[in-house]
Amino acid sequence: MNQVTLQSAGIGMTSERTRRRLIEQVREMGVTDQRVLDIMLELPRHVFIDEALANRAYDNISLPIGFGQTISQPYTVGLMTQTLFNKPRAKVLEIGTGCGYQTAVLAPLCEEVISVERILKLHRRARDLLYDLRIRNIRFRHGDGFIGMREHAPFDGILAAAVSENVPEDLLDQLAENGRIVMPVGRAAHQVLIVVDKTSTGFTQHEVEAVRFVPRIAGLG
Ligand code: SAH
Repeated sequence: MNQVTLQSAGIGMTSERTRRRLIEQVREMGVTDQRVLDIMLELPRHVFIDEALANRAYDNISLPIGFGQTISQPYTVGLMTQTLFNKPRAKVLEIGTGCGYQTAVLAPLCEEVISVERILKLHRRARDLLYDLRIRNIRFRHGDGFIGMREHAPFDGILAAAVSENVPEDLLDQLAENGRIVMPVGRAAHQVLIVVDKTSTGFTQHEVEAVRFVPRIAGLG
């Protein structure tokens, strides 16, 4: 057996305990929504990342997924999901599919996820992986997610995994009444996770906490 095979065999044997330990850490950091914790406990994280990094899959850290991008830290995935689902949200737009881990956490909580990824190879890889995992209520799209997806709007929830300097008008336009956006705003080392709620009288905004995300990639041009 080569080293990689040994490592993945190890993951297979210890996953139950290591997964529980990770979920316990995520809970202690403030993710208390039991539905979110249960989904994350069930979902194998190591299948979303390169085999060479599989021994770190259940550490509470972000990891490289190629093309200069990262799979988000499990705590951050839990926090964003719990923040979005403060109430039921049938149709959700996800910006930045990446490896598809966050997408797979969102899917059981809503009727439909529209997930947009700017990098074609990541888009295809996540689409194929989630198909293999038999998660079927997701439409995968390749493109610039920050302009939204007008043909599927309005959205009850919008979640972005790449940081933008502000909340794009397009996303505000495509939000349903009582809808919520959860996204990082700012730049480089000065980013904050914000929540935008659309009420019958307009938009309200509040900050959740400081975060660190990869930057938004510009449109296809
Ligand atoms: N939740 C994902 C996060 C990946 S990192 C995961 O855990 O794997 C952020 C992702 O946003 C990257 O895959 C990046 O390619 C993508 N991205 C950046 N700019 C984008 C844009 N304008 N439209 C859609 N996706 C974008």
